[in-house]
Amino acid sequence: MRNQDLIARSRAALWHPCTQMKQLESLPPLPVARGAGPWLIDYAGRRYLDAISSWWVNLFGHAEPRIKAALIDQLDRIEHVILAGCTHAPVVELSERLARLTGLGHAFYGSDGASATEIALKMSFHYWKNCGRPEKTGFLSLKNGYHGETVGALSVTDVALFKDTYAPLLRTTQQVMSPDWRQAGPGETAEDVARRAAAELGAHLEAHADTTAALILEPLVQGAAGMAMYHPLYLSLARQLCDRHAVHLIADEIAVGFGRTGTLFACEQAPAAACVADIADFLCLSKGITGGYLPLSTVLTRDQIYAAFYDDETARGFLHSHSYTGNPLACRAALAVLDIFERDGVLAANRDKAARFTQGLAEVAAHPRVRHFRNTGMIWAFDVTDAPPGFARDFHRRALDLGVFIRPIGGTVYFMPPYVIGESEMRLLADTTLKLLQGL
Ligand SMILES: *Cc1c(COP(=O)(O)O)cnc(C)c1O
Repeated sequence: MRNQDLIARSRAALWHPCTQMKQLESLPPLPVARGAGPWLIDYAGRRYLDAISSWWVNLFGHAEPRIKAALIDQLDRIEHVILAGCTHAPVVELSERLARLTGLGHAFYGSDGASATEIALKMSFHYWKNCGRPEKTGFLSLKNGYHGETVGALSVTDVALFKDTYAPLLRTTQQVMSPDWRQAGPGETAEDVARRAAAELGAHLEAHADTTAALILEPLVQGAAGMAMYHPLYLSLARQLCDRHAVHLIADEIAVGFGRTGTLFACEQAPAAACVADIADFLCLSKGITGGYLPLSTVLTRDQIYAAFYDDETARGFLHSHSYTGNPLACRAALAVLDIFERDGVLAANRDKAARFTQGLAEVAAHPRVRHFRNTGMIWAFDVTDAPPGFARDFHRRALDLGVFIRPIGGTVYFMPPYVIGESEMRLLADTTLKLLQGL
């Protein structure tokens, strides 16, 4: 197979995601023959550092031997079975472990992040209906929030480029101020911005809680908006307000779950929170859950919410399904991921790694074109002043020439590397960034 052949066939036969296909004329897709650790390797044997973990899913590098071994073992047992009317060890064990890790006792499975969002929204609404509050049909989300792109998920997403075209198809939802600390005025801290955003949330709930089912948010980092980061106090304040006004809090940790922000789940960083259940009524997980091996998502919720569906009447149950719900191979990959977290002390190792990488990026942070340099756990981002039109595409293309695969969002450059990234690879990333900041 040659790189050029595959590019031509790809353009002829498939429709790439989140892509204006005509732009592939000038910016062809990278043909990937294989992967090894943090590297992608093309058909000519050229290596590219996967600086964004293959769209944030790949935690422990490509071709991770333990995840691979778990999948091969599972292939000899059962590859897939319907989860309505059947059950199997990988899905039970995964649900038990996630419940222990989060304090949320029941797990419902989907296949992609967007399906998890759909499940959480429907469950929240249905809970209130089962509790005799059918008028609670509204959803609230944060400005610049992203929760996926199916019709329901897009309704709570607030990214104009993805949403505006489809506006006539969507449900009306409300957005409140994001706690993004870049909005800080003179003398204002990140914590002050969090308090200001919480005050706006409080005012909104004061007026609309009676018709609101849930608030959905991305804890600590709004990813697709361009890695907007905020103070964890906001999560505690939002929880208090949701309690006061009887509104669910849906934590969308599809991107930030599994160690990305420094703790296993981002909600754990809220002041005084002992576990996710102290913040969230529903927790959506996907992306890193299988280490980037197979599509899987889950929505975890409280036993008390689950109990409101448990009844002699069929229609009070949650009659929602996806064909691949709880796929055994995907669940085995997820179990292997949890094993790696435990056995390798990943969270502690990442803390050291993150501190070193932040030091290594000092020159980038101090660059005159760099604004709002920011870091949470294993995510780094900054905004480029005077980023010209086409900056993201040009940066991406020039970085490829230097052996780095990276996709800025507008004028925001971010790094979200696999946790196995080493010192020399971090240096390559920093050096490449500095070079490109001179030239673009
Ligand atoms: C990626 C993402 C989704 C959607 O997940 P898909 O698997 O792409 O459908 C939802 N919410 C957040 C926060 C995400 O980052």
